[in-house]
Amino acid sequence: MSHFHYENGEFYAEGVPVSRIAAEVGTPFYCYSTAKLTDNFTNFDAALGGLNAKLYFSCKANSNQAVIRTLAQLGAGADVVSVGEMYRALKAGIPAGEIVFAGVGKTRTEMAEALKAGIYQFNVESPGELRALNEVALSLGKRAPVALRINPDVDAKTHAKISTGKSENKFGIDIDHAPAIYAEAASLPGIDVKGLACHIGSQLTDIAPYRHAFQKMSDLVKALRGKGHSVERVDLGGGIGITYRDEQTISFSDYTNAVAENFGNMGLKLEAEPGRAIVGNAGILVARVINVKEGVSRNFVIVDAAMNDLIRPTLYDAYHQIQPVRQPADDAPVTKVDVVGPICETGDQFAEQRPLPPLVADDLVVFREAGAYGAVMSSTYNTRPLLPEVLVKGDKFEVVRPRQTYDAIIGQDRLPAWL
Ligand SMILES: *Cc1c(COP(=O)(O)O)cnc(C)c1O
Repeated sequence: MSHFHYENGEFYAEGVPVSRIAAEVGTPFYCYSTAKLTDNFTNFDAALGGLNAKLYFSCKANSNQAVIRTLAQLGAGADVVSVGEMYRALKAGIPAGEIVFAGVGKTRTEMAEALKAGIYQFNVESPGELRALNEVALSLGKRAPVALRINPDVDAKTHAKISTGKSENKFGIDIDHAPAIYAEAASLPGIDVKGLACHIGSQLTDIAPYRHAFQKMSDLVKALRGKGHSVERVDLGGGIGITYRDEQTISFSDYTNAVAENFGNMGLKLEAEPGRAIVGNAGILVARVINVKEGVSRNFVIVDAAMNDLIRPTLYDAYHQIQPVRQPADDAPVTKVDVVGPICETGDQFAEQRPLPPLVADDLVVFREAGAYGAVMSSTYNTRPLLPEVLVKGDKFEVVRPRQTYDAIIGQDRLPAWL
């Protein structure tokens, strides 16, 4: 049985009709499949089997405790980009010794918290950060395990807002400066430099940029070893793309080959930090049609989810497949509609001129591939409560984050004394 599918004329998540979840928790909501999460993780892990690699799930893609716990039980470590995410990973059961802390702007407070927790590795992105981490570590009587994040200056050929490995991006240390900074790292008493890291972007669908980046990284390892440094670890980053529409993405075998060709037999400990490739297609967003508005030039399907719930279409012009929960007849007529949310922003649009079977008020619709960068990027704009998240396992489901209440949102505000 596939994880999200039609059965008896309606849409199912594993063994649960999505309409049943909607009846119980209301709409809109996010829904994740345990079986899909598990398959994605174990397939990725198996692909790198034999290469002395460990997977560190990139928690920023989906940081729900139930998702992280599911992956932790499969042996995942965590890649975090803030101390808040570190707390989430720890709380979900990932030991500190399996946490990598990445990110271009770690504060000294965050460094201290992560040092006290005893994390596996800091991915350091600049000389300034390296020196600050050295000072913080010395003040705590510790040594910080470090990988230098290198910007290999390759074009990941992805959306500009999720490309991170070009020299004009804010991320990483320029590869030409790496040898000098590595030597400095090796000389600092509060730093225990272990190796290198890179992450060139997200939603990559072409293997060529990986090959290019890995080759540059491999050459750099050799050059550093030639200078007497014992480079033990290379963090390969994340970024493998998924199919949102019909795009061909990177196969595990191509990825494994690119890794093996460049890093095999070097005695390295490898790390990979996939996010989207683990959770992206393991989640959906379910919404209800509020109204169908027939405009002069276009018809609008107005749903009860909006850009505050799933911002990817607004932010990245992202495509999410939309399917009615009631299975349309094979010969159902298809018309082009704009699918929009209720927010007072023209950008609050999920799809423009999308061919869809007829939809009427109260119909349920599913937005596919919403498991990554969905719930985690949501906000309460327009005082819209954060959505519930539901985890399905076989024929069971549970709410793993309840819908936020209006009181919880409004109760955060405080009135000053003069009011
Ligand atoms: C976002 C991010 C990832 C995960 O990227 P995906 O495209 O979701 O796999 C991995 N590593 C770092 C440093 C990141 O910033």
